[in-house]
Order: sequence, then C-alpha cells, then structure tokens
Amino acid sequence: MSELKPCPKCGPNGAPLRRIGEMDEYRVECVECYTVKTPWFKTPGEAEAYWNAFAEGMKQQAARIAELEQKLEQMRTVALGYYDMARRLQESLDESKRYWDKALVEARKLTESSEGD
Ligand SMILES: [Zn+2]
Repeated sequence: MSELKPCPKCGPNGAPLRRIGEMDEYRVECVECYTVKTPWFKTPGEAEAYWNAFAEGMKQQAARIAELEQKLEQMRTVALGYYDMARRLQESLDESKRYWDKALVEARKLTESSEGD
C-alpha cells in the first residue's frame, strides 16, 4: 500500500481511508468531509493511485489558481493606474476647453467692440 496524500478539500486535517465494498471493490474516501472519494476499483492499488493523482492534480490546480489570482491583482492595479491617468487627462482637457471657450468669448467681445467703432 502506498502513502495516501491528504484530502485536497480538507488539507492536512483530511483523513483519507481505504474502504472495501460489498463486491470486493476498493475505494479511498475522506472520512473528514465524506465528499471526496474515488470511484470503486478492482484493486486497492488502483484506488490509491487514483486518489493520489486526484489530490496532486487538485493541489497543482490550487497553486495555479493562486498564481492567476495574483496576476489578476497585478492587472487590476495597472488598470486602475490607467483609469486614473485617463481621468486626469480628461480633467486636463476639460480645463483646457473651458480656457479656450472663455478666450473665444473674450475675443468675440473685442471684435464686437472694435466693429462698433
Ligand atoms: Zn476531506
């Protein structure tokens, strides 16, 4: 019998246990959560191999998820930086438009008053 990896759901607290079915079949299941279990196999070795491969796969998947979440967080930070830049640029454009609108009004006033002469 090979060493069983801990339950991927319960972690180190999980207690994987070998079970023997009525039809002389074998499975491994976690007796902490009872939700993580292998299908029935003809030999204990198959059930153990399945359990360990599943637990290892879940562990790698969890590590990949953590890695992706970290990347997502970095992208979110970059996106917020761009958002802030875009907002400041818009403020600057608005400011510049107000300035030119005001300048245009002043220019018209000057033109109108000089036309009156
Ligand atoms: Zn479990």
